[in-house]
Amino acid sequence: MQKRIYLDNNATTMLDPSILPLMQPYFCEKFGNPNSLHKYGTETHPAIQEAIEKLYNGINAADSDDIVITGCATESNNWVLKGVYFDEILKKGKKHIVTTEVEHPAIGATCSFLESLGVEVTRLPINAQGTITAEQVAEVIREDTALVSVMWANNETGLIFPIEEIGKICRQKGVLFHTDAVQAIGKILVDVQKANVDLLSFSAHKFHGPKGIGGLYIRKGVELTPLLHGGEHMRGRRSGTLNVPYIIAMGEAMRLANEYLDFELSAVRKMRDYLEDKLLEIKDVFVVGTRENRVPNTTLISVRGIEGEAMLWDLNKAGIAASTGSACASEDLEANPVMVAIGADKELAHTAIRISLSRFNTQEEIDYTIEVFKKAVERLRNISSSYDA
Ligand code: PLP
Repeated sequence: MQKRIYLDNNATTMLDPSILPLMQPYFCEKFGNPNSLHKYGTETHPAIQEAIEKLYNGINAADSDDIVITGCATESNNWVLKGVYFDEILKKGKKHIVTTEVEHPAIGATCSFLESLGVEVTRLPINAQGTITAEQVAEVIREDTALVSVMWANNETGLIFPIEEIGKICRQKGVLFHTDAVQAIGKILVDVQKANVDLLSFSAHKFHGPKGIGGLYIRKGVELTPLLHGGEHMRGRRSGTLNVPYIIAMGEAMRLANEYLDFELSAVRKMRDYLEDKLLEIKDVFVVGTRENRVPNTTLISVRGIEGEAMLWDLNKAGIAASTGSACASEDLEANPVMVAIGADKELAHTAIRISLSRFNTQEEIDYTIEVFKKAVERLRNISSSYDA
């Protein structure tokens, strides 16, 4: 059988197999609606409560009431921006939102939608190090700024943004602060209290939970008009019948993400660094961003003279799954937007390959990947008209 090596963990992750048996009873046996008053409903409550406790412990939220379950991080991000539009912009007369140029489209496209309604959005450009500074944020906050939304870690480069410093500035200036922590959870420590975060989005499938379930942390005291009105689920904050098995799975995935954090920061980082060191031995290969400021599983690597898609194709043929950037954009052949933002030349921006590891990868898989990668570079450069060795 052909090898299958999964190195696209920033797109999605495998469900941790230990989670599946915890979900199973909640499909055919304890399948009740948690809102029902009979036993079928009430017997789901302890497991839901336990899952929510695991979630708030995982991000050090002060209270379990601070976490609302959503369908995905795209929903959480939409909710924040559209909620702020109602609560801060329409009701209080503010006009302005601050974000970055490299947010996930769940923020970027929603901001564009709000611009079409008259909201003014400042998208901070990233610097040559691939991030922004807290000073940049401080400089653009205005009297009428309703929200600052900055991702904790970038999905393509893995670079970490200075969330604690930005949180401090927002708190000092009295501006709401949201962070999309989808790519940070399970990779680095995420502590909402320490970072002065008011709102934080997360998604289970990025930390070995199932797809189609996520959450939003809303600090106590922050009002956010619901995105989904309906029944009184989640204390009226997010209507829709609770997906019990997935909530249980997300809670356990968060617990495991924290349990494995040291492993991620040592063993996964070591494998990633080894892979990077070996690939950097190839001539004209570049890695985006310093390792110190990057989540431990991610490498965005450019191979001069080879289109990212061509490289991906050779890796795929050998059973290795990687990506040219975010999964949502991988069907078009546009230059990697983050590479463009950090000022890479146009040619180099087309050559970016993202390799993202998880705790389920092995050293043997990494050794095989290095071998395949080196062979692919040789083959593709030999047939490339644009590469002059
Ligand atoms: N935010 C970031 C940074 C992401 O990487 C992703 C997924 O790629 C999302 C948001 C969207 O998450 P979901 O798939 O849960 O909607």
